[in-house]
Amino acid sequence: MKLSARLQQICDQLPEGCRFADIGSDHALLPVAALKNGKAVFAVAGEVNDGPLEAAKRQVHSSGLQERISVRKGNGLEVITPGEVDVITIAGMGGALIVSILSEGMSKLDGVERLILQPNVGEDLVRRWLLEQDWYLSSESILEEDGKIYEVLTADRTGQAGDLNRQLYTDRPLPGCGQQLTKERLLLMGPWLSERPDAVFFDKWSSEIEKLEKVRRQISKSELEASRIKAEELGLQIEQWKEILACMQKDKL
Ligand code: SAM
Repeated sequence: MKLSARLQQICDQLPEGCRFADIGSDHALLPVAALKNGKAVFAVAGEVNDGPLEAAKRQVHSSGLQERISVRKGNGLEVITPGEVDVITIAGMGGALIVSILSEGMSKLDGVERLILQPNVGEDLVRRWLLEQDWYLSSESILEEDGKIYEVLTADRTGQAGDLNRQLYTDRPLPGCGQQLTKERLLLMGPWLSERPDAVFFDKWSSEIEKLEKVRRQISKSELEASRIKAEELGLQIEQWKEILACMQKDKL
């Protein structure tokens, strides 16, 4: 069974021999692949909706892994008991939903050592939650598949999370640039991704700038004073982002 590049990236982040819960598992593709390739020894596939739940059950049944993958119906982390798994994966949802699942299931995080999260949008919300809850963002990756760009965030529980995260989110100067990578910008762009920006990273941020430009053009059509001010602010932001990206690109050469 071949996983998509996105799910494979998540699978690669599972520690060898882990027990994990895949929340919002849909077809349970990740648990089945992780058990088959020996990455995991046990998995819970959690699903809140009946259609995907049935698809997960079918997949697990046809893989013959019913003994080691438990498919459970429930909202977020309510499908697991504290200490049952050491890793949680949540992929293919918005960042706000991922944050609410984690916040509501806080009591289930006892014994969990790693979170592997792949928000489709709102990555900054997830990074902020991890930072506030003292999870160390130990790695990030970005990939493009079928015309979409995905980020995979891995966070570990460690006693040094406070210090490590402080270092990670310390304002960084950009050589030869009037701008710097502030904590807020690092939360948006990703501290590891900004450290080693690749072509996919630049594609993502060029398209974010284009979106801002579209909004600015729309707002500029209005004759209201408030709109004129807003358009001016946006114009300034766009220039700053362009400068930042140009500096990061120069830095890479
Ligand atoms: N994780 C798979 C992946 O990345 O390919 C499936 C992603 S699919 C787009 C999102 C899945 O999350 C859906 O099957 C949906 O039913 C499920 N889901 C949404 N909210 C959930 C929640 N609060 N608890 C459990 N599952 C949820």
